Amino acid sequence: MTGEKKLVVVALGGNAILQPGQRGTFDEQMANVHTTCEQLAQMVESGKYKIVVTHGNGPQVGNLLLQNEAGKEVAEPMPLFVCGAESQGLIGLMIQQNLGNLLAAKGKGDIPIATVVTQVVVDKNDDAFVNPTKPVGPFYSEEEAKALESDKGYNVREDAGRGWRRVVPSPNPIEINEKAAIRQLVDARSIVIASGGGGIPVIKENGKLQGVDAVIDKDLAGERLAVDVGAPVFMVLTDVDSVRLNYNSPEEKALSQITVTEAKQYAEEGHFAKGSMEPKVRAAVRFVEAGGEKAVITSLDKAFDALEGRAGTTIVKG
Ligand code: ADP
Ligand code: MG
Repeated sequence: MTGEKKLVVVALGGNAILQPGQRGTFDEQMANVHTTCEQLAQMVESGKYKIVVTHGNGPQVGNLLLQNEAGKEVAEPMPLFVCGAESQGLIGLMIQQNLGNLLAAKGKGDIPIATVVTQVVVDKNDDAFVNPTKPVGPFYSEEEAKALESDKGYNVREDAGRGWRRVVPSPNPIEINEKAAIRQLVDARSIVIASGGGGIPVIKENGKLQGVDAVIDKDLAGERLAVDVGAPVFMVLTDVDSVRLNYNSPEEKALSQITVTEAKQYAEEGHFAKGSMEPKVRAAVRFVEAGGEKAVITSLDKAFDALEGRAGTTIVKG
């Protein structure tokens, strides 16, 4: 097929890589990623779309932190932001290999695929640094938690009766640091995997980048990526096929197409849960307000249909 291909930034949710209840073996993750890549391959194969892929990394980073903790006497633990980089490599590999094999089987093995270790610039004066809220890593006893607080300067919180955990800031993404490199790859018709896990948070001081222990919301970072690479479409793939009003109630209603104005109003009315659907809708609104053509929120299996306007929730200007 000829003609201009539309660039879509696809943000994969946690279920694209690990299903609830799974332990997270390499084989389990590869099998999930394979299914995910079948959906991505369908978009590419249609000849209508170019894709840039981003993804979550919660369980993967959680496991790296556990490994660091368990092995700290024999191998030096790495900072959280380094674990973020490690998870980008791990998940990037799984997508590169599965998507590459699938495309090769369809006679499209000539399409380059590359993962970019991505730093995302945040503001060191972001309010999030004053009030860290995002729990990460293992559970500790109160005693262990208090020791980490005084020895390492961690912020620790009691997590809903389940034990103590480290909490880190979740700042707003300002800029994808590798955006020029990503754009060049896209222009050279590569499929790019970038900004995994919301990216590696970095602050800029006196013109120098420096990693910080924080977690950027992957949907908000995905929106930044979509704007920074000039994509007309931003798509969030999760485990529900559409955004709902009155979610989980008898009055539940699926939304097919809504305007930014409607989306903001529904958000204001509290229809979208904080930490799950709320950031997705916020990212969608930001994207369209920044000049994007449309943002789509749907499930993995409906990805292609949703791009074609036959499924999911589409957010447009208005
Ligand atoms: P992901 O890993 O894809 O980011 P999340 O769990 O963060 O997944 O977000 C998806 C979840 O958002 C759904 O499983 C659903 O339970 C929840 N959710 C909260 N509010 C809504 C809503 N209004 N409509 C649909 N889903 C919602
Ligand atoms: Mg999420």
